[in-house]
Amino acid sequence: MSEQGYEKEFVNEAFDTNWIAPLGLNVDGFEKELAEYVGIDHAAALTSGTAAIHLALKAVGVREGDIVFCSSLTFAGSVNPVLYEKAIPVFIDSDYETWNMSPVALAKAYEKYPSPKAVIVVNLYGQAADYDAIREVTDKYGTPIIEDAAESLGATYKGIQTGMLGDIGIFSFNGNKIITTSGGGMLVCKNEDVTQKAKFWATQARDNAPWYQHSELGYNYRISNIAAGIGRGQLKVLNERIEYKTLIYEFYKKSFSDIAEIQMMPVCEYGSPNYWLSSLVLDNSCFIKPNDIIRALATKNIESRPIWKPMHMQPLFSSSAFFSSRNEESSVSEDLFNRGICLPSDTKMTLEDMQVVVGIIRKLFGKTELHRESLDVQKVL
Ligand SMILES: *Cc1c(COP(=O)(O)O)cnc(C)c1O
Repeated sequence: MSEQGYEKEFVNEAFDTNWIAPLGLNVDGFEKELAEYVGIDHAAALTSGTAAIHLALKAVGVREGDIVFCSSLTFAGSVNPVLYEKAIPVFIDSDYETWNMSPVALAKAYEKYPSPKAVIVVNLYGQAADYDAIREVTDKYGTPIIEDAAESLGATYKGIQTGMLGDIGIFSFNGNKIITTSGGGMLVCKNEDVTQKAKFWATQARDNAPWYQHSELGYNYRISNIAAGIGRGQLKVLNERIEYKTLIYEFYKKSFSDIAEIQMMPVCEYGSPNYWLSSLVLDNSCFIKPNDIIRALATKNIESRPIWKPMHMQPLFSSSAFFSSRNEESSVSEDLFNRGICLPSDTKMTLEDMQVVVGIIRKLFGKTELHRESLDVQKVL
């Protein structure tokens, strides 16, 4: 799929108007345009999704020694900011229906830790968690939700854009995300005081004084005007990318429909994902293991990955508490990690590329190649 080069326009504009230094028109424009896209009035553009989570934690008042509930099945960037503030992450398992935070495991965590300062809920691989079910639990305790929508820009839950489902939402524009500024992030909140405060902290917490005066600890977390220009251009192709990512998912799903041991990541009826990464799990009884597929694809220089290794299994977090949605001995997130793979899902893939991926995997299962005609997705591709 060809990129339209909108990015160049905005970046050139930044050069032409000599606005290469931090901040400027593109930063304001990117915030405004992203806010419009998700349906909110205020946004703060930052250097990364991780920075956005860090400032969200500060905004809800997380301090040293506070408990923060976190999705376990996620990328470390979701959780590391909890440690930046010397707070204590407590990990919550996923469920099979959503692959996201399990309300059952969350309720269990409250029995032991009744007053967490915040809950960081991740929308894994571009699909929203079940916020109504999660809120039913958190509302009893009044815990604010930080929605980690780093992977889910453009996905919806019951018609509402992700990023808008928690008290504060964050997005990432890192190189691997659905749209990228090479590196960047955004914090969104209905309360303008929060986005203003985030911008204040992100620019070294400069007090309103004629000289550089600081009463609070600040950070250098504001996005550059150049990166924001790239983001404005990328935002214009977001819907197109979601459409194409949907097709990639559908293509894989159809192509593996005759292999009983393969299940694609579930798509929940409550929303519509952005299909950032197409993922699958293999049955326990399956003699082919994720590594076999990863290795077979690698021989053709095709990159695939295991599912995120859950945070509660990471050496860094080995002493952290974890609440399973099953029992003491096993967990859904660990099981998904053991059986799962993220397939190549880049929007630059052609139909031929996808057929190569599918062909290699089908061959492992002793299946013949599929004719494109047997998959009615080719009409749209
Ligand atoms: C990418 C990612 C982040 C971190 O975003 P960066 O912009 O890379 O800092 C956080 N959470 C999740 C779930 C992510 O996938």
